[in-house]
Formats: sequence, C-alpha cells, structure tokens
Amino acid sequence: MANDATLSQAAARLGEAKRVLITTHVSPDGDGIGSGLGLALALEGLGKEAVIQLADPVPEYLHFLPGQDRIRCAEPNEEGWDALVTLDCGDWRRLGDAPGDTALFGCVINLDHHRGNEEFGDLNVIDPAASATGLMVFHLLRELGAPIGADAALALYTAIATDTGFFCYSNTDVTTFEAATELVRSGAYPYAVHHALNESHPPSRLRMMHQALGLMEFAGDGRIGMIVLDSTAFDRAKASPEDAEGLVELPRSIAMVEVAVLLRPTTEATAFKASLRSKWKADVARIATRFGGGGHARAAGCTLEGPLETTRDRLVAAIQEELNRGE
Ligand code: 5GP
Ligand code: MN
Repeated sequence: MANDATLSQAAARLGEAKRVLITTHVSPDGDGIGSGLGLALALEGLGKEAVIQLADPVPEYLHFLPGQDRIRCAEPNEEGWDALVTLDCGDWRRLGDAPGDTALFGCVINLDHHRGNEEFGDLNVIDPAASATGLMVFHLLRELGAPIGADAALALYTAIATDTGFFCYSNTDVTTFEAATELVRSGAYPYAVHHALNESHPPSRLRMMHQALGLMEFAGDGRIGMIVLDSTAFDRAKASPEDAEGLVELPRSIAMVEVAVLLRPTTEATAFKASLRSKWKADVARIATRFGGGGHARAAGCTLEGPLETTRDRLVAAIQEELNRGE
C-alpha cells in the first residue's frame, strides 16, 4: 500500500508531536482501552500532552486501570492536535464520532492488527500477525525510546491478556510472551489483572450465564454452537449488556463445536450483534465481513439487521457455507 508505514516511521512522527489525541473503536474493549492508556501514559512521560477520546464509555470491568482521568467521552473532539492515533480499529466509521473532523490533525496514525483494515490514516501500521494492538504499542514505545512505567505496563499487559484469552488463544506466540515478560518486569502484576477481569464479576453476570446456558442451541450436526439472547433473558437475569460480554466462550468450550456464536440485542429493536469464534479452521472474519463487520480469523463480530429468526437463519447458513468451504 502507498501509505503503509513501519513502526519506526510512526514512532518518528510521534516523536515530533507535542499534543496527541488517541482513540479506539465503539464498545471499547481491553485491547482498545489498555493500548490507549499505555500509549498515553508513556507519551506523557516524554513530556507530551496525550488525551484519549472515546465514542462510548469505558466498561465497568476496565475501571481498575489507572490513568482514566485523561479519557474524554461526552462530546466529540473539536480541538486541533499534532497527531491522532487510532488503535485497534480497522474502519474509520467504527470510531464513531469521537475524533471529529480529520482536518483537526497534523497526521492520522492508524495502528491496528485487524486483517482488512481500511488504511484510512496518513500512516498505517497494520500487523495482522500481532496478537493484540497492545503488543504493537509496546514495540512502538520501544522504537520511541519511551520508558514504560508500572501503570503503562499494567495497561499494556491487560490489552495483551484480554486479546489472547490470558495467553491461550491461537494468536499467542513467542513475541507475545516476550512482551508480557518485559511488562511484568516493568511492574505489571498479572494477578491484579486476572483478579479484576475474572474474579470481580457482579452476581448479575452469573445469572446471565445461567440464562445463556439454558438457551444454548446447536446446528450443523453440532459443529455450530449458538446462544441467542433476547431482552427477556436480560430481564430474567436482571443483567446489563456488559454482563453478556464474552459468553461466546461457553459454546466454544464444547468438543464438537467448531464455530461459536453469541447473538444479542442492540439498542435498535431490529438489529442484533453477533460475536463469532472458531477453533482450528473456520475463518469467522470472512463471515462477519459478509454482514458488514470484521475481525480476525478466530474472533470476529458484526451487526445484523432484521427480525431475530431471519437473522439467526442467515447467520447459520453463512457459517455452514464457511464450514463446507474448509472441507
Ligand atoms: P467481539 O465478538 O468480542 O465483540 O469482537 C471480536 C473481534 O471482532 C474484535 O477484534 C472486534 O474488534 C471485531 N468486531 C466485533 N464486532 C465488529 C464489527 O461490528 N465490525 C468490525 N469491523 N469488527 C468487529
Ligand atoms: Mn485487538
């Protein structure tokens, strides 16, 4: 690509910048928030001004991360900045209205690990082999010669831990472990992250899980495991949308299942959000892309329009096609 950039080119541009705005995708997750905080804290250590601008608030489960006083969310950005860094986002529209007009930025640096990134930046550093955007930020900071303090290390460790399922998913490699080692050396405490993410759920999360287990269904001779959550399930569990985050792991844990799906309502009555996961072969990013979404080969998502029954059938048909393709 014409404006494909290396980490060192991005580091050089950031080195020159005095004021940097950082953002990530709507419904931000551990990788988006963790990489954003890690980058902001380290840039501040270099004497720069760094602010994180988001379209959606930080979810409750990530409130343990330090440095959140530099996150803005209420209004879209209207100020000028030397650089905008977009993290973990393959598509400018998925940033929502957070950054405001592109004319406000001296340059836009797009740092991401999603295959199929639309390369909307002036500099695009896209590495689909990177297990997390947090890993790319870690390498960027090394290029910059920026010290990583304990708070930044905790944030980047969290980014990597969440996107690799605590160093278990197929994207976990030697580079991932090497970075994690360095981050722990810099002060990230792994148990603090495990505790915050896996031992601190509200009871409503487990009530939601109970509902989800009761709603598990199978298709494609048991190779597709699916949970469809409607608003009744949330009412019964007295749960919030956040309580359903990650429940797609339940059907994925079953031996026969190759593709796992979690389908849940959105704020619009006729739209449903699908989370897709696979194990060895099926490319779920290809399926999500067909419906206007995206992601990685083993973890992807999309939003489907239409009544629930039709949505489920269209999705199952597309997954079945992908499973047949791989045979
Ligand atoms: P999750 O299922 O946890 O929401 O997302 C899994 C992966 O798919 C993440 O990498 C996420 O960024 C991506 N993803 C989820 N939903 C969408 C979507 O609507 N559009 C795009 N482009 N990617 C998505
Ligand atoms: Mn990510």
